[in-house]
Amino acid sequence: ELQERESLIITNDFARAYYQEQLTQSEEGKSIGLSYFKQRGFRKETLETFGLGYAPMQRDGLLKAATAAGYKEEQLEKLGLVRNGRDFFFDRVMFTIHNVAGKPIAFAGRILKKNVKAPKYINSPETEVYHKSDVLYGMYQARQTVRKLDLVYMVEGYTDVISLHQNGIKNVVATSGTSLTSGQAQLVKRFTENVTLLYDGDKAGIKAALRGVDVLLTNDLNVRVVVLPDGHDPDSYLQEVGTTAFETHLQTTAQDFLFFKADLLLEEAKDDVGQRTEAIRDIGSTLALVTDPLKRAGYLQQFSARLGLEESLLVNLVNKAIGDRR
Ligand code: ATP
Ligand code: MN
Ligand code: MN
Ligand code: MN
Repeated sequence: ELQERESLIITNDFARAYYQEQLTQSEEGKSIGLSYFKQRGFRKETLETFGLGYAPMQRDGLLKAATAAGYKEEQLEKLGLVRNGRDFFFDRVMFTIHNVAGKPIAFAGRILKKNVKAPKYINSPETEVYHKSDVLYGMYQARQTVRKLDLVYMVEGYTDVISLHQNGIKNVVATSGTSLTSGQAQLVKRFTENVTLLYDGDKAGIKAALRGVDVLLTNDLNVRVVVLPDGHDPDSYLQEVGTTAFETHLQTTAQDFLFFKADLLLEEAKDDVGQRTEAIRDIGSTLALVTDPLKRAGYLQQFSARLGLEESLLVNLVNKAIGDRR
């Protein structure tokens, strides 16, 4: 079994090298893939650090190269790289997904053409070496800085990770557009307990931030949130304002998740007593996820002051939410 996994990773590594070679050596790759990455501002070193590549238009380029090098078609199929004698990834720029040890466990491919109905990104399927829900994109490249700074930024996209890393913000990983899982929270916990969510400044991004938090709190992580201006993702905002202003934005606007959620819900509720009650209940149930009693007491104190409610009322609410969960 261990051998099988090693063999799958070796095959993936061949594919990684193939996509990278196509990007940097082939005429097609250089004129299409490399120029795309250049136009996005990615430097040569960055392309290497993240194992970026190019899957050519030819429908069986990888299959032919890999079988010629002695790899079995069956292995390529198991990894989702080949299906029915054809490459799964073609005519896309490629992102290598590494495990924390730096081994290539999967790939994502981004479409190049605009106005095409096909999905913007496609990904390797779940395999013996790729359990999507346990992976955070970029953790291998981020982990030393995460440990050193005792903080990780979580973003949505692959290119957000790459762009921030290239500009010196290296403690950043991506959820890759899905809801956070317990496995991902556990992975983070190996390196730090402090998470700052840096999601896209649109409704979907804010919703994703709200959804992701419960699982982080349940796993005893400290969560903060930074909201970006509407229409921006971390990459686009950094490109627009530059690294210094971007870092200032992070430092000055990061707020504790619980206060972020409370402000958002209470703002929506306005003066409507029913909605306000609903909001307070919702905040109470999130507060119930905070297991550290001291931390919880601190929140309770601050919330009662903010909401102008008796602290004992909130305490009862939270205790009830804890009881309901059991
Ligand atoms: P780019 O800057 O290249 O447009 P992005 O990362 O900003 O990429 P978003 O549309 O913001 O792209 O999506 C965020 C993340 O969600 C992506 O990086 C990717 O991991 C995931 N994603 C987006 N679209 C898809 C899709 N169609 N299928 C699967 N995953 C997707
Ligand atoms: Mn978005
Ligand atoms: Mn983007
Ligand atoms: Mn985005």
